Amino acid sequence: ATPMSIMTATGRGAQSGVLIKNAEALERFETINTLIVDKTGTLTEGKPRLVAVMPEEGSTEKDLLRIAATLERGSEHPLAEAIVSGAQDRGLQLSDTEEFEAVTGKGVKGRVDGQRVALGNAALMRDLGIDLAGLADVADARRDEGETVMFVAIERALVGMVSVADPVKETTHGALVALHELGFRIIMATGDNERTARAIARRLGIDEVRADVLPEDKARIIRELQDQGSKVAMAGDGVNDAPALAQADVGIAMGTGADVAIESAGITLVSGNLDGIVRARKLTLTTMRNIR
Ligand code: ADP
Ligand code: MG
Repeated sequence: ATPMSIMTATGRGAQSGVLIKNAEALERFETINTLIVDKTGTLTEGKPRLVAVMPEEGSTEKDLLRIAATLERGSEHPLAEAIVSGAQDRGLQLSDTEEFEAVTGKGVKGRVDGQRVALGNAALMRDLGIDLAGLADVADARRDEGETVMFVAIERALVGMVSVADPVKETTHGALVALHELGFRIIMATGDNERTARAIARRLGIDEVRADVLPEDKARIIRELQDQGSKVAMAGDGVNDAPALAQADVGIAMGTGADVAIESAGITLVSGNLDGIVRARKLTLTTMRNIR
């Protein structure tokens, strides 16, 4: 590739909010046939809001939400922000957490009002030896609507569930339709529950889902696809996505996401909208064609 045409292409990209780091990223993007997308903050707005508080017998909505929000004050996860905002909107008085601990890809733990509290997904409850069988139907019905359900336990006894919903970005569906037309195979990779992930994937026409993935798994999934001969781009926004963005043939970061994600990526979409990938693809195709 001649430096001049590459410069023209990166300049045109930048004007439309698609920042291409270097010639290598531009050239490589032409060969990509598989796109892995993170869910939260990439397909969705990444601003979940609390939609349900479901106490078990013996607890109340107020108590459940107060304890959940108190614990989540220590977390920077978007799910935590949804729970804390939900409690604040309802005017609840939060207390303090001691011995706070974030369990990556699973949830949070700590001591609230002297009691050991845990909040997170089914895997976290499994680690604590808590049986979720009685709640499975209610949880699944919520997940089928694309919601993320979290469980709350006090002293290893289940006290209820909270559920949040994270709207899909307005531009996501159209972008995925266009990317399919351009020949991409599209795979969602998420730490969220399989059922929630599938509900959202179905709406968006996504080809495959890898759910319940721990952060370190995303890079491994990409490596496996590469070993099978796929040329892989990864789109993500989180701190957790950085290793996967680096492993991909081309990493695509959301400009609205974490700085380390942007640093690990070859392409940054300033607005955080996936239609930037469509633009990037068209740009590489024309540029590489003109060069040859
Ligand atoms: P994602 O790919 O959706 O960003 P994460 O690895 O951050 O995934 O989280 C995976 C799952 O772990 C979440 O869907 C949630 O069930 C649980 N989880 C993670 N952090 C928290 C938290 N602070 N509070 C409650 N649940 C959490
Ligand atoms: Mg994310």
